[in-house]
Amino acid sequence: MEHKLQIYNTLTRKKEVFQPIKPPHVGMYVCGPTVYGDAHLGHARPAITFDILFRYLKHIGFKVRYVRNITDVGHLVNDADSGEDKIQKKARLEEVEPMEIVKYYSDRYHANMDQLNTLHPSIEPTASGHIIEQMEMVKQILQNGYAYEAEGSVYFDVEKYNKDYHYGKLSGRKIEELIENTRELAGQEEKKNSFDFALWKKADPTHIMHWPSPWSEGYPGWHLECSAMGKKYLGETFDIHGGGMDLLFPHHESEIAQANAANGHDPVKYWMHNNMITVNGQKMGKSLNNFITLDEFFSGNHKSLNRAYGPMVIRFFILQAHYRSTLDFSNDALEAAEKGLNRLLDAWHLLPELHPSAESSVDVRNYETKCYEAMDDDLNTPMVIAHLFEVAKIINQVNDGKEKLSEKDIDFLKSFIHTFLFDLLGMRDEKASGDNNQVIDYLMETILSIRQNAKQNKDWATADKIRDDLTKLGIVIKDTKEGAKWSLK
Ligand code: ZN
Repeated sequence: MEHKLQIYNTLTRKKEVFQPIKPPHVGMYVCGPTVYGDAHLGHARPAITFDILFRYLKHIGFKVRYVRNITDVGHLVNDADSGEDKIQKKARLEEVEPMEIVKYYSDRYHANMDQLNTLHPSIEPTASGHIIEQMEMVKQILQNGYAYEAEGSVYFDVEKYNKDYHYGKLSGRKIEELIENTRELAGQEEKKNSFDFALWKKADPTHIMHWPSPWSEGYPGWHLECSAMGKKYLGETFDIHGGGMDLLFPHHESEIAQANAANGHDPVKYWMHNNMITVNGQKMGKSLNNFITLDEFFSGNHKSLNRAYGPMVIRFFILQAHYRSTLDFSNDALEAAEKGLNRLLDAWHLLPELHPSAESSVDVRNYETKCYEAMDDDLNTPMVIAHLFEVAKIINQVNDGKEKLSEKDIDFLKSFIHTFLFDLLGMRDEKASGDNNQVIDYLMETILSIRQNAKQNKDWATADKIRDDLTKLGIVIKDTKEGAKWSLK
């Protein structure tokens, strides 16, 4: 089957047929996390969106190099050029080295992404590992006249750049509006214009993470790492750059400006952005304090959650909306996602049990074409899922004796469902182990109630032994007001 994958390009504001620069190779860059806290639902969405794209591009025959960075330096607390580095702030509060924070939260991020069954990127570079490449880019931009030095820092000259290029081509923002809307922040007096952004910042005496440079002992600006690492691993112009819509401005707009200022041409052919997750209509995010971490979803330990939801339920919930639509979180929506996913998995398990007929009474072959058409239409995963529900319905009808399927068609459905549900949507069949999980939950309840009794009888030796033995197994017991809770380390 001939595939005409169409994707929505934020840069041109329309759907375009995807044509890589050097087929069959595809270069794809996605902005990764700043590792100073646990991943939440807002991190899961871009990871899953671009995992689907990665899987699909490979499936239809492309050789994909997928680069997703880790931001471990240079991202300041207010996302602009003032305030403390996010990672350094966390390190100060926890009284550890910044790189301990980076290691701890990178590991947890990777564990969460594995739980969500996202494939590993081909390369996962860190900002701190590419200081030299970033300094080289600052030098080029300075040489080309689109940046200026002030008190040991280097700033991008947006006004100058906008005379030769177009600052705002991605986000649609106009420089005149920026002049009116940008707040003057303390410590930014050295900039020519408040909307100029830092390429290199001189470190103040309290700053721990800094490197020597021709301008000062300092550190790179946040936008620079993606420009430098994208160029290093994918070239001066590459196919796809993705990320959440919240990164469109100023982050991605500034990436385009930096690349043009350094190399003289645009860095990316297709820009793709996933929409936000909302909670009662508000963006879910750390700054709004309405975020729920993935671990909290998996354990159910959060005041907004009625109960725990498994990683595959979260993944299915995200894929039930188109990546360019907002997705509103609620317990009802998650419960509906779980029911829907179970319906598909039940049908999958029913498939080998079906009694084949000589001939089929329904056409199931057309679902393959329909599902490919949906994927080709800007990764329309909700449509793929809708088709899979129809197939599940047919499987149930065959099981009830209301429809008939030939052996060939049953075999076709096995490979069709495997391709779309497991290989492309990336769902994992957790039904098989689901019964075991219930047994474990029940066992833990029993053990914790024995420990509770021991405590009530002041039998501290038994209570402590249970806790210590569980710790050895990697099970952590936490005593809370509502009783003991357990989790895996
Ligand atoms: Zn980025």
